[in-house]
Amino acid sequence: MNDLLAFDRRHVWHPYASMADPPAVHPVASASGVRLRLADGRELIDGMASWWSAIHGYNHPALNAAAERQLKEMSHVMFGGLTHRPAAGLVERLLGLLPAGLECVFLCDSGSVAVEVAMKMAIQYWFAAGQPRRKRFLTVRGGYHGDTFHAMSVCDPVTGMHGIFRGALPGQFFAEMPPAGFDAPCDEASLSSFRNLLDEHGPDIAAVILEPIVQGAGGMRFYAPRYLKRVRELAAAAGVLLVLDEIATGFGRTGRMFACEHAGIAPDILCVGKALTGGYLTLGAAVATRRVAEGICAGGRVFMHGPTFMGNPLACAVASASLDLLRESPWRERVLRIERELRAGLDPCRTLPGVADVRALGAIGVVELRKAVDADACRREFVKRGVWVRPFGRLVYVMPPFIMQPEDVATLTAAMREVVGLQAAE
Ligand SMILES: *Cc1c(COP(=O)(O)O)cnc(C)c1O
Repeated sequence: MNDLLAFDRRHVWHPYASMADPPAVHPVASASGVRLRLADGRELIDGMASWWSAIHGYNHPALNAAAERQLKEMSHVMFGGLTHRPAAGLVERLLGLLPAGLECVFLCDSGSVAVEVAMKMAIQYWFAAGQPRRKRFLTVRGGYHGDTFHAMSVCDPVTGMHGIFRGALPGQFFAEMPPAGFDAPCDEASLSSFRNLLDEHGPDIAAVILEPIVQGAGGMRFYAPRYLKRVRELAAAAGVLLVLDEIATGFGRTGRMFACEHAGIAPDILCVGKALTGGYLTLGAAVATRRVAEGICAGGRVFMHGPTFMGNPLACAVASASLDLLRESPWRERVLRIERELRAGLDPCRTLPGVADVRALGAIGVVELRKAVDADACRREFVKRGVWVRPFGRLVYVMPPFIMQPEDVATLTAAMREVVGLQAAE
């Protein structure tokens, strides 16, 4: 292929992109540590961790070694009727990190599929319990849970990117957004919409589903642990299950191993994905309590899901190595240090015209503008400054790899200040 970019424009579809008027893309030749190396030799400090996933950076020797070792044993075998050490070893490691009580692990292909699996588990749980009417879900506005159909149905109904599909999606219940801010006061009035929907539709609801503490792709919003704690209590009181989507927040991103730990609660089903393999391969999991698993399987029933590549040994081996790296690293100190650096580096944006809010939690830094930014122009300016940041809507945000050194975080935040300044000046 002589001209990668011309071929790509003509034939290769990119995420959320037009094929008629394709967006500009940058060819990447390789990546190492926190740097992406472009085909023309330029290097970019990566502020995105490839959508939350590359927590240890790229081309990590331990993860490479795990993949190479596993490649020589077997890349894949079917998981029906067979099992293997890579899968069982990963599940054992996951159980060591997850809140107590979550112990039945269903491995699957991706984050969206983990959400589908969790929602199917909730529906099957009630079916087996003789309450087949419970098929609907209660969530909060502003959420994002993935791009497959049931996952889309619980994304924010307005900004959720999926308005086109409204008639094709199951109708769910949407409570008002939690009050904005990790430190936001959270009185009972702020829960009234959630409580009313639960009261009114309780007998139709299989589960409450939400992202704990951080609403990611739906708007990069943070909310108070107390809100989550009350959601847990209200769901339990109403007798519905609680599904927490930790696909973005899991594995240390918010400064806790799982974001639900901020509230000291645990769900009935928890979804993971993204950082599970350290950004190497696609893998997700839905993890249920013993009570949920036994409920689903009562009376000789089985759980009706089984992807072809379930428990893929290559992905599981890399995920195990990634979890070992995480556990053996001072991840919490690193994430909290990055939080301080993001806060210090981004706070000056508050005084820029056009900036609505600046916030940081764990290794997540967000500058929210009043108007949508020109994403393409921003991206060009960032690349010019040697960093990789991909804004969307009104948000210029980063979630760097945990291994990023202070000087690189400083370069990243300096570039954000400058580019937000350019945008704000328009
Ligand atoms: C990214 C994301 C998903 C979807 O995961 P995919 O692997 O992209 O399918 C679901 N929920 C949350 C919170 C996410 O951030």
